[in-house]
Parts: sequence; structure tokens; C-alpha cells
Amino acid sequence: MRKMLTGLAVISIWLQGFPVQLTRTVTAQPNTLKVTSVVKPEGAATEEIPDSQRFFETALKARDDVPDPTSRVEALLAQMTLEEKVGQMTQLEIGMVSQGKGTKTKIDPQKLEKAVVKYGVGSIINVTDEAFTIDQWHDTIRQIQESARHNRLKIPVLYGIDSIHGVNYVFGSTLFPQEIGMAATWDPELMKRAAEITALETRACGIPWNFSPVLDIGRQPLWPRFYETFGEDPYLAKVMGVATIRGYEGTNVASRDHVAACLKHYMGYSFPLSGKDRSPAWIPENYLREYFMPTFQAAIAAGAHSIMVNSGEVNGVPVHASHYLLTDVLRNELGFRGLVVSDWEDIKKLVTQHRIASTEKDATRIAVMAGIDMSMVPSDYSFSDDLIALVEEGSIPQARIDEAVRRILRLKFEVGLFDSPMPDTTLKSRLGSPESRAVSLQAARESITLLKNSDNVLPLAKGSKVLVTGPAADSLLSLNNGWTYTWQGTNAGLYPKDRLTIRGAIEAKVGKQNVSYVAGSTIDKEVNIGEAAEAARKADVAIVCIGEGAYAETPGNIEDLTLDDSQLKLAAAVAAAGKPVVIVLVEGRPRIIRRVADDARAIVLAYNPGNEGGQAIADVLFGDYNPGGKLPFTYPRYPNALITYDHKPYELQETSFGNIASRPQFEFGEGLSYSTFAYSDLRVEPKAATGDAEIGVSVTVKNTGPRPGNEVVQLYLHDLVASMTPSGKRLKRFARIHLEPAQSRTLEFTLRTDDLSFIGTKNKPVVEPGEFEVMIAGLTRKFTLSQVP
Ligand code: BGC
Repeated sequence: MRKMLTGLAVISIWLQGFPVQLTRTVTAQPNTLKVTSVVKPEGAATEEIPDSQRFFETALKARDDVPDPTSRVEALLAQMTLEEKVGQMTQLEIGMVSQGKGTKTKIDPQKLEKAVVKYGVGSIINVTDEAFTIDQWHDTIRQIQESARHNRLKIPVLYGIDSIHGVNYVFGSTLFPQEIGMAATWDPELMKRAAEITALETRACGIPWNFSPVLDIGRQPLWPRFYETFGEDPYLAKVMGVATIRGYEGTNVASRDHVAACLKHYMGYSFPLSGKDRSPAWIPENYLREYFMPTFQAAIAAGAHSIMVNSGEVNGVPVHASHYLLTDVLRNELGFRGLVVSDWEDIKKLVTQHRIASTEKDATRIAVMAGIDMSMVPSDYSFSDDLIALVEEGSIPQARIDEAVRRILRLKFEVGLFDSPMPDTTLKSRLGSPESRAVSLQAARESITLLKNSDNVLPLAKGSKVLVTGPAADSLLSLNNGWTYTWQGTNAGLYPKDRLTIRGAIEAKVGKQNVSYVAGSTIDKEVNIGEAAEAARKADVAIVCIGEGAYAETPGNIEDLTLDDSQLKLAAAVAAAGKPVVIVLVEGRPRIIRRVADDARAIVLAYNPGNEGGQAIADVLFGDYNPGGKLPFTYPRYPNALITYDHKPYELQETSFGNIASRPQFEFGEGLSYSTFAYSDLRVEPKAATGDAEIGVSVTVKNTGPRPGNEVVQLYLHDLVASMTPSGKRLKRFARIHLEPAQSRTLEFTLRTDDLSFIGTKNKPVVEPGEFEVMIAGLTRKFTLSQVP
């Protein structure tokens, strides 16, 4: 099964009728690349399409040898005073060097000089809650770097920003679906392409450092940052995460169209017990390692240059104070060599919220000694002052400071800041290009997940008279969610005027004369539900666009996962009018819709698809795009019956008391198409494996429907008996493939011993002999493993 691959793999993605070629050159090195699957179209020459694992392994290793800056770093470090070193460890927000807000933000020369020359701060971040034009970015970055030329050693400033779904703080940029939507594409190559565009557009502004991707696992749907995750499964998230790193950093992070990634938020942030942002998480070590660590581990192996720390606490210890997580695990076990930056004000919060220190100075000592290299202070100079005092009095050794500063300087050299600190104005014309926009449209289309389609009510005929209603119908805010032009994404005036809402896109597609629009409800208040029901009676079909508005972080906390009552009432009233109802869900987390799900003929989940989302949704509703997205999380039916797909088998078994855990509304990995796909010939070889043998799996998939379509083939493994109670199934491989009507393809996957492992009772990976079951789309085959190495 082990093979070597040399050459060029070419994948064509059709975007609005023209092909875009995504190419990757793969250089063969002994034992560095295993081909783990090949998709063979019937009657065609063998075509190489990487399955998840092959993509992953290739992406992990696709790094050039870049010049090692060690000698330059050491030469500079040797000249630095303690004040200069501590300055480098300080990160401020832009308000500390400017006045005004948004397009009115102006650099204040005196404030700038204080920050960059007097204090010699290492990094500045963000915007004051509004977007800039690219010219404004150039101007801002230029002034900051000019000022840095006046500090004694001329050390440039590392500017950092949250470009989390495209360059979301820049007018005219390309905005992609939020991470949760990108996960629903199950298409890592497309994820990588989107990240490349984001990197290019971030660099085009003169910014070399991106606080993305979020690698927290979305297993707590109440959490308001759920949409920033790649969903509930660590394998899917790991593959998509590494795709993102490779897209951001390329093979050489110094190149003018790449940026340093910042993995966040290390670790356990996404699983607060209460579901509220920045509230305590209680995660047993075993579970932490099984579910929350693999994404970070893989991204570190992929060479990611920086990491941001979880603002919250895990098992009673704030992660900013955890020497165990920040040094023992991150450095000594995972081998991370890059920069560790705190999150916003989190050293202060060790005093004001977590109460593990009584003074900020003591909090600074604890955090720096735990492993924080740079503090996102970000709105005063307290960190620098305290840190100097701590070193002078001997509470923090000089060696720890040198270690942190080395990492900061190394990153600055690696992203090319010392050689070219100024924005490259030649990149300006590439911001928001039509080609990039087409990739965003493709991503939005690929993400859309068809969850229900009774009697094939979809796709709709273009001549139908449709009612479009609901708070998400005519809003770019819902399509994008938070981190869009502002942190919360709620300033409607900043959104582009030329992008289509769902209503606009439907009108453009089928003609205004065929579309009636009634608001019906806002996110949480009834507007004119009766009028919407009346309009439904006159229409052939009602398209009810419901879900969430825009929110980010703690302001997005909710008390109830159930969708707001006004929206459920709207959907129910429209359904009562007797015409077919199509629900379009535009939301960043799975809000409960049980009350209206049964009466809807079709349910389409769009997540937060970005600025091209209106168009993508209209394309799916009217059959110009055949949906193929799959749920990257389990969609709950009841707010108090939250479960993930990898639950224990007995959780859904009927007990002698007759009660079972309730079944979810929709399952992880679910998603319909306008085609149908038949699976056959699942083969697993060998049936009795020993030692570290590879297990070959093959399956044939045929498009049995009338249209070309995309299918995501998902391979799950079930460990039948294990010393830690086993899950019913765990995702191990996937591949998104395209099939013409009647076409079939055979996919081959290879499993290895580490795919059979789990974190055992001693918190270490173990592989146990016994029986395993391979599951693909309802087909199952067993094999046994003996003589574990
Ligand atoms: C968030 C981070 C973000 C940082 C800078 C924090 O509040 O938790 O994800 O990178 O702000 O904007």
C-alpha cells in the first residue's frame, strides 16, 4: 500500500462556468509521502484526487528550507537593554497610538512615538472597531514603521489582525464563509485556497500576522464562538486546520503574499460548562488530549509560527497561568518553537476575574513564567513597567526574557519585516479581485447543506411565485455574522452595497415579478407575521429565512439554544397557510427548530456563508448548484439533549425503563443532494491484521440520480471493545468527489495503527488488539487486530 508520488496533481474547480486550476507541486522525498487513496473514474485515465489523509500529510510537509535567522536574532539580542526586550514583549491596540475611530482614525504622532520609540513595543494590533480602506492601512502601517526606524535598534513593529473569514477589517476585501461553513464543505483544498487569498489580502494591507485559525473544537453549541470553529470532530478540524495554515503561511512565510498564522485559543476554550464565553471549562486530561489537542498538535507539526492562549480556565487553572499547558505540554511535549501571545487583557484578568493573583505585577510574573512571550496588554503600559521591576528584583530570570524576545525577533525576521517592513503597494489591485470572489462563491455553494427535501420540493422551478420572508432574508449581517467590518459585525452601513442578500439574489434570478417579500419578524420580535402568512397563501412556495443576527465573543452568549419565538411563530404561521415551506437557516450555531421542522418541506442550512452567500443560496434553491455540504456538527432536537456523533453506542439504546437519549434533529455528516449516491463493494483487507500492518479499505460510489453532483465519502471506525468505553464511531478519512450521472468511482483508503489508537486511562495513546468495524454510508466490514506493536 505504501507508494511514492512525484509530480503535479491538478484539480479543476468549476467556478461560474470557468475552471480555476488549483495546482500543487509535490516533491518526493524518501518516506515523506504516502499515497493513501486514489479515486478512479470509470473508463478514464487514473486521476489523482487526494483524500483527507493524503491532503493532510502533503500539506504538513510542504515547507521549504528558509534561511535560518538565528545568527541575526542573536546579534540583535546581544545589543538590547532590558527595557528594549520588555518593549518587544508588549503588544498594544491601535487606540494607544491613534485618535478617532474607523475611517476617521488618525495616527497621533506623540502617542506613536511614546509607544514605538520610548517603550519600543514589539507589536500593535487591530482597528478601533471599524474597518479601514486599504489606503488607510498603508498609511497607518507606513507611519508605524517609519516611527520604528527611530528606535535605537530600528526594530520593526509586528502588526497583527483578526482576518478570520477573509480580511474582515478592510473595505473591498473578499469575505469567505465563517470556519463552520468552510468545515461543511469538507474540502481542504478549497480551504487552503481561501486561506491563500486571505493571506494575500492581509499582506496587501501591509500586515504580516493573522490571528487565525480558531482550532478549538465545537462541541458546545451554546458557545457564541461556535461559528469560528471547524465543528465537533477533531479529525475534520485537524485536516481543515492544516489546510488553513498551509494557505496562510505557504512554503515560505516571508513571501509577500503569505502571513504568519496564529493558532487559537490554546487550549480547551470552546468547552465551557455553562456554554457562556470565557466561563470555566472542566475537561479531564484524557478528554482534553483526545478531542482538543489534535488540531493544535497537527498545526504545530505543519510549522505554524505563533499561538494565542485560551482566555478561560480549565480545571480551575487559567491557561495564562498554566506552566503545565504552556511549557510542559506545548513546548516540551508538542515541540512548539514559535511565539506564544496572550489574549486580550488576560494577564490583568488573572487579577480582576480569575483571582489567582492579587496584583497585576504578580499576575505578570505568573504568566511570563508559565510561558507567555508577548502580552496583548493592550491599552496601557503596565506590563512593561511591571516586567522590568520583576527582572530587576530577580523574580523573573533574564534568561526567560531572552527566550521570549528571541522568539519575537525570530518571527519578525521570518515574516521578512527587517528586510521590507513597508506595505507592498503593488498588491493593492489584487484586493477583492473577481477571481477571489469566485472562490468565495464556490466556498459558499459547497458549504450549503440540504437537510430535508420532502417530495423533492427543491430545486424550485424558476417560474414559481415565491414569498421570501424572515429576518435573514434581506440582511448581509446574518450572512456574515461577527468579525465583519466591525468586531460585532452589526454596523449595517459598512457592508458593501453591491452584494446580494438572499432576497436580492432570488429577485435577480427569477425576476422581481415572481417574488414577494414580507419581513415577518426580526431576530427576536414579531413584525407582520399575519401579512407574511397572507402572502404565503398567494405564493406557490414560501422561503422562510431564519436564524441569527451578527455577534462575536461574549456579547453572543445566549440563555436558550431554541430559536427565538418570533421566528418560530413566523415559520409556523406561514406553514399553516398550506403552501410548501422551505426553511433557510442562516446561523452560526444550531438553534433548535423542532417546532417547525416537521412542517417544512425542505430545510437548507447555510451557516454564515459570507458576502456571496445570498447568491449561493439562490443557486441552490433554484437548482443552478447541486448542494453537497455535510454537517460538521450534530444538530440537536432539544436544548437539553446535546450529544455529539461520537457518543457511546448505549446512549441511544432503549433501556428496560423505555427511555432513550433523544435523537438529534440532524446527524453529523448528513447532507442531501439533488442526486442520489449508491455505495457498494466495501472491502477491508486484511481481515486479520497484526502489528503495524496497514488496513486497506475500498468502496465504490455511484451517482444514481439525474444530475452531476458532489458527495463526501466518509469513513468511520468503530472499536468494538476497548478499555476506555469506546465511541460508536469516529471519523477517520473523507473525500469530496464529483460524479456525473451514472458515473461510479472506487476509492481506496489506508488506515494505520495510529488510526486505531485512543487516549487511554493513563492519558497516553494506546492501541488495543481486538475487533474493529469500518463503516461507510451504512456499509460495514470487520477486521481484527492482534499483536499490537
Ligand atoms: C479574542 C481573540 C482575538 C483578540 C484580538 C480577543 O478578544 O478572544 O480571538 O484574536 O481578541 O482581537
